[in-house]
Amino acid sequence: MPQAEQTLAAPQRDLGPGEPAPAVVHGWGGGEGARVVRLRPRSLDELRTTLELARARRFQQANYGAIVRGLGRSYGDAAQLSGGLVVDTTHLKGFELDNGRGLVTVRAGVTLGELLAQLVPAGWLVPVLPGTQHVTVGGAIASDIHGKNHGTTGTFGGHVRSLELLLASGELVKLTRDDELFGATLGGMGLTGVITAAELALRPVIGPLLSVDTDRVATLDDALAVLSGPGGSYRVAWLDLLGARPGRGIVSRAEPLCTPQADPDEAARTRGASANVRARLRVPARWPPGVLSPTTVRAFNELRFRQAPRRDRGHTEPLGAHMFPLDKLDAWPRLYGPRGFLQYQLVVPRGAEGVLRAVIDHLRRFRVPCYLAVLKDFGPANEAPLSFPLQGWTLALDLPRGALGLHPALDHCDELVAAAGGRVYLTKDVRLRPSTVGAMYPRLQEWRAVRERADPERLWRSDLALRTGLVEGGG
Ligand SMILES: Cc1cc2nc3c(=O)[nH]c(=O)nc-3n(C[C@H](O)[C@H](O)[C@H](O)COP(=O)(O)OP(=O)(O)OC[C@H]3O[C@@H](n4cnc5c(N)ncnc54)[C@H](O)[C@@H]3O)c2cc1C
Repeated sequence: MPQAEQTLAAPQRDLGPGEPAPAVVHGWGGGEGARVVRLRPRSLDELRTTLELARARRFQQANYGAIVRGLGRSYGDAAQLSGGLVVDTTHLKGFELDNGRGLVTVRAGVTLGELLAQLVPAGWLVPVLPGTQHVTVGGAIASDIHGKNHGTTGTFGGHVRSLELLLASGELVKLTRDDELFGATLGGMGLTGVITAAELALRPVIGPLLSVDTDRVATLDDALAVLSGPGGSYRVAWLDLLGARPGRGIVSRAEPLCTPQADPDEAARTRGASANVRARLRVPARWPPGVLSPTTVRAFNELRFRQAPRRDRGHTEPLGAHMFPLDKLDAWPRLYGPRGFLQYQLVVPRGAEGVLRAVIDHLRRFRVPCYLAVLKDFGPANEAPLSFPLQGWTLALDLPRGALGLHPALDHCDELVAAAGGRVYLTKDVRLRPSTVGAMYPRLQEWRAVRERADPERLWRSDLALRTGLVEGGG
């Protein structure tokens, strides 16, 4: 049981802060990426040295800046800065479990998958999990990520008791929920400083198994109705938007098993189940263009829909396989070819379901194919000014960047979403404009004021921040 501090991954021989390396980095959606200098500190001391380098460079070059990066699972340009410094935190490892209190103190570069591997056998679950195990704790806090259980459990940030933040000045501060900088750092997209460690509250769990209810639905309205009904707290609908009846799909509602399995057959079937999932296949680097097309995805969707049970109750599934299905296929964005894809994730309040239909119809009218569509319900928003979730419905759409008419089509969708009081998720974004972000995030000015106090020289900036005006340009 991990009572004492664990080093989860031995640091590979890699670049210390004295050896800056030019690199091209991009978001998970692919595309051209950004030319940066990347440093990968292995300790707090090396991180401070990295910061000194950035500050010295900034002294010579007014527009120079830096941004923190975790595992680069944000889809767009949040974790990159063209011509700037990228501080890669993936070697900041280690955690300590307080088994009595269900708390873990964890360094920022530990991934949620690494935590699950150690904590679930010890009887603890990370309360909020995204659709991949490959995100760092720092990235989870900076995007204030949500899981399939937002309706009952809120965001990742809601379970952070305290965090340590390295400011641009070099000062390391410990923040709790009472600090305004704490709220500005949840969902703050790395623009308030480097999160170096955090204390997280965990949820007790008996093992890596879920009890899953599944329903096949014929329309979007049916999916909304099932997601509104009672059932497990991890709720999600996969939607097929390419078929003749767009909006049909599969809804699942899952809950961790709260008693050990009594049925010996079920116990045998699920023996060896894990909270993690291993990649079984890897998409080759030279994936031929054109294989992923509306025709092939339509056929895949048809198969997926038909294979799902019409109605199934209490099916036992391993947590990892259920939560992280995409992690079974390594490097899957390569399927989209060199131009990559973007994910358009919106949220609209309850009562604005018509916007979901309007967005789907609009993209179809513009012939923008949607290769993956996921619908979830959200509970109330939290207190962090840039946190994405608000009470209502979130729809995430994977769209090929090469689709003709993509940008004008999404500009119109932005208007629909903003007019309904909704917003688009910054960690997935690659195209929002400053005016739209201002309309979608009404507490932006409040957040900017806190950020300015934490980083008056505006050292922390990213391509996302400059493009959307989160951090106003200039020296
Ligand atoms: C398959 C898949 C499924 C996903 N499912 C979900 C989901 O269900 N819900 C959800 O909310 N998100 C989801 N995401 C998005 C993902 O959870 C977030 O983008 C997350 O922030 C990525 O973490 P990362 O470690 O890769 O961070 P990066 O992508 O490297 O960085 C993301 C942001 O965090 C900042 N950051 C990173 N580390 C630190 C640090 N130590 N200190 C300060 N700032 C830091 C960066 O500057 C950047 O702004 C999914 C992504 C993928 C690829």
